[in-house]
Amino acid sequence: MSTIPHVLVLGGGFGGLSVSNELRKNFDPASLKITIIDKKDWFMVGFSKLWIINGTRTFENSTASLKDLSKKNIDFLQAEILNIDFQQKSVITSNDKISYDYLVISMGSRLAPERIPGLIDHGYNLYDHDQLLEIRKRLEEIQSGKIAICITSMPYKCPPAPYEACLLIDSMLRKRGIRDKIEISIYCPAPITMPAAGSEVSKQILEMVESESVIFHNSSKLKTVENGKLIFENFESNFDLLLAVPPHIAPKLIYESELANDPGFIKIDRDCKTKFENVYAIGDVTVLPVTDSMTVPKAGVFAEGEGMTVAKNITSKIKQTNELTLYDGIGGCFIESGRETASLIEVDMFSQEKPMTRLTSSTEENLSKKFEFERERLTKWF
Ligand SMILES: Cc1cc2nc3c(=O)[nH]c(=O)nc-3n(C[C@H](O)[C@H](O)[C@H](O)COP(=O)(O)OP(=O)(O)OC[C@H]3O[C@@H](n4cnc5c(N)ncnc54)[C@H](O)[C@@H]3O)c2cc1C
Repeated sequence: MSTIPHVLVLGGGFGGLSVSNELRKNFDPASLKITIIDKKDWFMVGFSKLWIINGTRTFENSTASLKDLSKKNIDFLQAEILNIDFQQKSVITSNDKISYDYLVISMGSRLAPERIPGLIDHGYNLYDHDQLLEIRKRLEEIQSGKIAICITSMPYKCPPAPYEACLLIDSMLRKRGIRDKIEISIYCPAPITMPAAGSEVSKQILEMVESESVIFHNSSKLKTVENGKLIFENFESNFDLLLAVPPHIAPKLIYESELANDPGFIKIDRDCKTKFENVYAIGDVTVLPVTDSMTVPKAGVFAEGEGMTVAKNITSKIKQTNELTLYDGIGGCFIESGRETASLIEVDMFSQEKPMTRLTSSTEENLSKKFEFERERLTKWF
């Protein structure tokens, strides 16, 4: 029987890959066992989904296989995670019961289009990898009419992504010479484009989309979808093609667990600990408050940073160095303009006075940095 500590990581996304790889740098396989469990066997950087929609990528050349983690001496088990027994320190999956010494919950958020009546029947899920090719086909076929991009609830992952989708779709339609025949509208439940990035950045994002004739509808809370019709709390609107960012909820076993305390998500502090000894939570499955009204946004770059924080804290526990690392909240999300340039929303969530957010100018160099961001992750994690 193995006597070395076992770190079990639930979810092989941004957070799970970050914590596992960082731990493997600190411990050789003879002194630490690391296992990732995920129901799917691939990883993709979220923003590549928009490149599949605009036809510059395929699913196959945007993904890495979690099975390749064996090269890094990280075990991968493909299974559905069904339950966590915090007292017995074990996880029940569709295949097995697995014990842990340290547990990292990095299961992301679940997309729940079923929460908006009519959405599944009449619209597409912009974030669902299974629908990307169909969305692309519809965008290649559409000749005229109205495209609606609808953010159905807050918070959702990658706050700039729906705006970026508008700009990339604008670009596709311009290239086809039919942009003036199609109206693109974006609907958002919040009063400003991106509350997570603050009012100044929100204003700049608004200017960016409006400069491409995208119509922004604020404070638009979607209730129901009918054939060609969006029914909001206060008004109705028509569409020919609906691309929605569905409600985000915590995975079922998390919101039914003792850990769920912030509408189903796990509330953490900057040390990413939970109330159970040696159990940590990171990424989109968590809520990390910054101020009374602001939390760390759901984005890969923050899940990655929290993963690195947890790796340091587990390392310190195993090596008994007694150091506690707090997550620094520094990161950035790209927003592509559709004109071969991109800007970066730079974020310093826990900067000394108040959270800092800043939008850099739109440049070709930033677009190259976005490609590099993806390449770097796929290279260092696989
Ligand atoms: C279109 C789009 C663009 C984006 N652009 C950016 C960007 O530019 N920058 C950025 O930083 N972020 C971006 N994101 C957001 C980013 O992808 C997420 O925030 C990030 O993946 C969160 O990481 P995570 O580890 O918390 O969760 P995830 O990466 O979602 O990983 C969770 C994993 O847990 C697994 N899982 C969940 N439940 C179970 C279960 N019961 N059993 C087994 N496995 C389970 C899932 O299969 C998944 O692999 C984008 C997202 C989208 C959709």
